[in-house]
Amino acid sequence: MNKQMTAPLAFDVQKVRADFPILAREVHGKPLVYLDSAASAQKPRQVIDTLTRVYSHEYANVHRGAYYLSETATAAYEAAREKVRGFINASSIKEVVFTKGATEAINLVAATWGRAFLKPGDEVVITAVEHHSNIVPWQLLRDATGCVLKIAPVNPDGSIDLVSFEQAIGPKTKLVAVAHVSNVLGTVLPVREVADIAHAHGAKLLLDGCQGIVHEHVDVQDLGCDFYVFSGHKLYGPTGIGVLWASLALLEAMPPYQGGGDMIDTVTFACTTWAPPPAKFEAGTPPIAQAIGLGAAIDYLNSLDRVAVAKHENALLRHAMSRLAQVPGVRLIGTAPGKAAVQSFVMEGAHPHDLATILDRSGVCVRAGHHCAQPLMEILGVTATTRASFALYNTMDEVDALITALHRAQEVLL
Ligand code: PMP
Repeated sequence: MNKQMTAPLAFDVQKVRADFPILAREVHGKPLVYLDSAASAQKPRQVIDTLTRVYSHEYANVHRGAYYLSETATAAYEAAREKVRGFINASSIKEVVFTKGATEAINLVAATWGRAFLKPGDEVVITAVEHHSNIVPWQLLRDATGCVLKIAPVNPDGSIDLVSFEQAIGPKTKLVAVAHVSNVLGTVLPVREVADIAHAHGAKLLLDGCQGIVHEHVDVQDLGCDFYVFSGHKLYGPTGIGVLWASLALLEAMPPYQGGGDMIDTVTFACTTWAPPPAKFEAGTPPIAQAIGLGAAIDYLNSLDRVAVAKHENALLRHAMSRLAQVPGVRLIGTAPGKAAVQSFVMEGAHPHDLATILDRSGVCVRAGHHCAQPLMEILGVTATTRASFALYNTMDEVDALITALHRAQEVLL
């Protein structure tokens, strides 16, 4: 074919794969097939090189030193905050708080906003699909304040019914805290509608964006949420860095989370005054290189056509769902319309842990267990599932490798 006549590929997965050095390795003598990105994504060279460069040439503590290296490290750390701001379309960098992850961000909201503003009898509403990170902090808050934790149900296909959802909300609801995308089912929750319902009842909305930010376009102003949290490591960035976004007015009204350096204005033995947000919530030396690494991950994603990435991930999911459904004894868990590229399943006669161990012998990495969603497992009537999750670097061949490995596992197990 005439080269000039060839239409440019909308998304060149092989080019993307070349950015991820780990994908070239083998496991048990087989090419690595990494299908566990919902647990933690692999890192592109651009992120790895940034971490190496920071530690090799640019590292110093931030916000304190009056010397060149500290000033440039501070500028890079704050530039990462600006990259996050742009990525989620927050209106100010003052609204972007760095945490060590989504878990810490949710605990921060529960421990500060929750303890300051919730009274006995006030209600926090979550859904049945939540990760433990969006359950346990509210239970701790319940035990500390006497507030009530209510659970909105999930449909058998993994979707959320807005009528039942609204029934869980009442005049005492002060907070609705839900996943943007379920890490077990892949359901994309109707968060815009949830925001309207929450606000119509005078409640705030927290979105756990751990999975959502990876697969969906996030504009915190457009979503209409009050808090949005996510972890860097699922977004192709380093571990040890996460984000809490909240409006400046909310952050100003919230008491600090931890006390220490960097979060103060003045300290005397008698009393202390706080720095303005976001510093108020970033006590101690922050994860400097990790924040800069997250900025590099965002630069990397911005260099790609994210609409094409979403189409690619969706095509992987559709291929996986149709091929998995044809494997004898396999039952898909999570089939809500419009879902993201995360697929749980169970296979008759095979415990998910045994299955994952056997798949691993073929180089296929999948997650097995309760996925930090034990209450959801109970509702689904299973103790565990096997989960394949797809990222921008996965290929159709890898989906096929999963299916081949599953057939082999059936020969061993059944
Ligand atoms: N919420 C969801 C939906 C998740 O998938 C995860 C990670 N599995 C978390 C919260 C917790 O994230 P982290 O462990 O990075 O804090």
